[in-house]
Amino acid sequence: MSENQKTVYGPVHSWRFGSSLGLDPIFEISTCSFNCIYCQLGNIQKITTERKIYVPTEKVITDFKEFLDKPFEVITFSGSGEPTLALNLKEIAEQIKILKPQIPLLCLTNSTLLHLPEVQENLQIMDRVIVKLDASNNKTLQQMNRPADGVSLESIIAGIKAFKAVYKGKLDVQMMFMPVNLNQLEDLAILLKEIQPDTVQLNTPLRPYPIEWNRDSRGNHTENRSYTTRTLKVVTKEEAETIQNTLRERTNLNILSVYRE
Ligand code: SF4
Repeated sequence: MSENQKTVYGPVHSWRFGSSLGLDPIFEISTCSFNCIYCQLGNIQKITTERKIYVPTEKVITDFKEFLDKPFEVITFSGSGEPTLALNLKEIAEQIKILKPQIPLLCLTNSTLLHLPEVQENLQIMDRVIVKLDASNNKTLQQMNRPADGVSLESIIAGIKAFKAVYKGKLDVQMMFMPVNLNQLEDLAILLKEIQPDTVQLNTPLRPYPIEWNRDSRGNHTENRSYTTRTLKVVTKEEAETIQNTLRERTNLNILSVYRE
């Protein structure tokens, strides 16, 4: 069976984490509480905040066992949408930890469900959680992240802070920069100072935007991709330098950039 039919993919090269094996607890169709204009999955097919079991734990574990002998440095929950929508996220993570106890478990989340105590509890097993923050106001949230009904910047920020207060692992913030949020550095710096993450990871959409969803787009896009894409407006290297320097000066935090690493 091709990797396309698996809930485990890669390892993919991550500029932040090295060789990363991807775990996809969403899988069937792209499903997320955001529909980001830069999403590497393309236009999200189901925009929802509903938590449920999207793919059985047994399938993920069966798929994972085929990768036990492959080399990778971290295991990352990501894939076809927002991992914290999966009600069995913790159950999957617990079984993966038994099979590969020495490999760090990471989770990329868009932060929209972090206000829920059960999501906070589910994520405790992760060694590192990377939360998304692109916008400093609701207008930009609507422009960039196009969230499900009921999701506001206020609920996202409150959720990140509540999670940070109880989480024992490392918490990073990842930020996507495009021309639309370039003018928000000062306000974003204030939010970062309030959150106090371990690391801030600056990104810009260097991966192309698929016109339609294709499961292959979970991993690294290659030049030989089988689906149609369009390139997005990115920030220049000079702008990225300014963003990094400004946020570092304002916050004194550890700021990494996709253009530097
Ligand atoms: S949060 Fe992630 S998966 Fe969801 S739409 Fe945005 S980039 Fe895509």
